[in-house]
Amino acid sequence: MKLLIASNNAHKVREIKEILAGHFDEMVTMREAGLDIDVVEDGLTFRENAVKKATEILDKSGFDAALADDTGLCVDALGGAPGVFSARYAGEAHDTAANNALLMENMKDVPDERRACRFVTCIALARRGKPVLAVEGKVEGLLLRAPAGENGFGYDPYFFYPPFAKSFAELTSEEKNSVSHRRAALDALCAALDAEMAAP
Ligand code: IMP
Repeated sequence: MKLLIASNNAHKVREIKEILAGHFDEMVTMREAGLDIDVVEDGLTFRENAVKKATEILDKSGFDAALADDTGLCVDALGGAPGVFSARYAGEAHDTAANNALLMENMKDVPDERRACRFVTCIALARRGKPVLAVEGKVEGLLLRAPAGENGFGYDPYFFYPPFAKSFAELTSEEKNSVSHRRAALDALCAALDAEMAAP
């Protein structure tokens, strides 16, 4: 089966292609398929957004399978914000520097012991004639007060990962991909696909 990956983010696509290699005959991104399908992400949960994206893209593309994800950073002291609004926390411009600056401003008076946060990813796989599979992955961390590291993207410089005693932006991509929220979600998707294959 040929899978359409509803993302053009090179980091994500490489990880998705590596982990799902055994499950699909071929995997292509929207750009590789020459498609430009815009889906409005207006859900209130990661799951709603991922399922909506995968389903709409399946319907509009003519592919037999489409995979979409929705990701965000959830900070306990902010009641789970920025959450599903992570990409547009500081406005519709989707500006990473502005998002990080606003996050730091909102967290400036929060003491060290209340800086727990997590990255959450929901991945949805839509296929013709089958119910949508949706799985979640998480990774727990602490929000730093200043950026550390040059790697990664988005909120990575502010996300301290205690098991490695480094921020996500200080990890190599191999290190990050071995423990990331997306890795956990992709592993869960592989397990769900394996279980489906094994079912009588
Ligand atoms: P999206 O759902 O992948 O578009 O991500 C939503 C927001 O979360 C964007 O602001 C991304 O920069 C941020 N984001 C997604 N994945 C990661 C990650 O692995 N590290 C840091 N930030 C991320």
